[in-house]
Amino acid sequence: MFGIIQGGLYEDLRRWCAQEMTAMPFEGFAVGGLGIGEGEELLRSVSALTAALLPEERPRYLMGVGPPKDILGAVRAGFDLFDCVIPTRNGRNGTLFTSSGKLSIKRAEFAADPRPLDERCDCYTCGHFSRAYLRHLFMAGEILASQLNSLHNLYFYHRLMESCRAALHAGRVPLWDCEEVYAGG
Ligand SMILES: [Zn+2]
Repeated sequence: MFGIIQGGLYEDLRRWCAQEMTAMPFEGFAVGGLGIGEGEELLRSVSALTAALLPEERPRYLMGVGPPKDILGAVRAGFDLFDCVIPTRNGRNGTLFTSSGKLSIKRAEFAADPRPLDERCDCYTCGHFSRAYLRHLFMAGEILASQLNSLHNLYFYHRLMESCRAALHAGRVPLWDCEEVYAGG
């Protein structure tokens, strides 16, 4: 069972909550109340402050975060676990993460595009379907569009976490080859 560290954006309340909760035998700790519109700077500073108050040998979970760049920052701050609606919600809305940035499958330019969503992706969607077909499914309101787009976006997030884990296992700062592409969000 996880203990939840609350305290909003108040450093004293985060410290007090972490002190009380870490005195109890929880298996891990979740940090709540962030990633809800407080802005990038506060997200980064409050999450880093809170991560540092929690024991390294137990999992640290940043609830509800987030865009790839925020996850990368949080991994560097010491977080191990995340959850977020972004990969599947964006997938259902037709916004796809690719190694060269976000792509909106609705755009007319993809109507006859035979390429996969991302040439560098080896997910099931990219291995079997063209941008043109995915756009057709989306425009027709086919539920398969949501499924194939979500699968691709989840795979993209999976690869982000995979590269973080590989770097951590090698004793390096977590790296991601798309960091610059997604620096803006
Ligand atoms: Zn893919």
